[in-house]
Amino acid sequence: MTAENGIFADLHTHSSASDGVLSPAELIRACREAGLGAVALTDHDTVSGLLEAERVAVNLGIELIHGIEVSCGWVDCDYSLHILGLFINPRASCLTDKLAEQQKARHKRALKILDLLEIQGIPVAPLRAQFKLETEKVLGRPHIARYLQKIGAIGDFQEAFEKYLKRGASAYVPKLQVLPEESIDMIHRAGGLAIIAHPGLKTDWPKLWEKISSLSWDGIESDYSEHTPEQIQMFRSLAKDLGWQISGGSDYHGEYGKHVNRLGGAGLTEDAYHSLARAAREIRELRVAAGVTNV
Ligand SMILES: [Zn+2]
Ligand SMILES: [Zn+2]
Repeated sequence: MTAENGIFADLHTHSSASDGVLSPAELIRACREAGLGAVALTDHDTVSGLLEAERVAVNLGIELIHGIEVSCGWVDCDYSLHILGLFINPRASCLTDKLAEQQKARHKRALKILDLLEIQGIPVAPLRAQFKLETEKVLGRPHIARYLQKIGAIGDFQEAFEKYLKRGASAYVPKLQVLPEESIDMIHRAGGLAIIAHPGLKTDWPKLWEKISSLSWDGIESDYSEHTPEQIQMFRSLAKDLGWQISGGSDYHGEYGKHVNRLGGAGLTEDAYHSLARAAREIRELRVAAGVTNV
């Protein structure tokens, strides 16, 4: 199946396993309705939605690519970077152990933020109870900001960051920073491709590029829903020059705001997808032979 716009594979989507609105099952059904033939579920820092997505994908005859989007950064600077891992083995212990460790650190951080809010007289007990129940979910500052808005502690979402959550504010707790090279290594060991996500969203791209260009990337997400046609061309030709793969996707989070009708709005054609999938197989074989991948 191919959507009306010629897109066959949407390789960047989110479900309620991270910050998407649709459950993994609902997301796959929506992909089917959008006419897609293949989809990558790439939840933030978790692979917990993949099993449910897989069951529905098999039933509906859609190809599911096992994916993840990991958040990376550096302790000494404010740059952040998202990395897509595509064609990973979600059961690889090198992946699940590392994610569990990061998840624990994020959870600890979220509870610390709640402590600091409580000291300032903000009632956080309901949120603390939720965080303690949902230890598997990736809960962070956006959840806290939404809660503060709900109880009327602040006027809008942004104010929560300004007043409490951003660096230097009264309830700020430094983030656990995972270096890009650590995440690339984790993805490679789990048999996947490491792809730079939405490079065009980075206003500081030239500086960021200086920091990351020498890392062991497999590709770049050139065909992203918010890239201009010029950016798509620029990142495609960068990939060509470097011998990298190109990827594409919508970054769909559910039907709200800018995400309305976005599913399948960006991605790869059938030919482009099959050439990426072929490259992924070849690269994995080479990494298995080199002893990098053992899954
Ligand atoms: Zn992202
Ligand atoms: Zn995303």
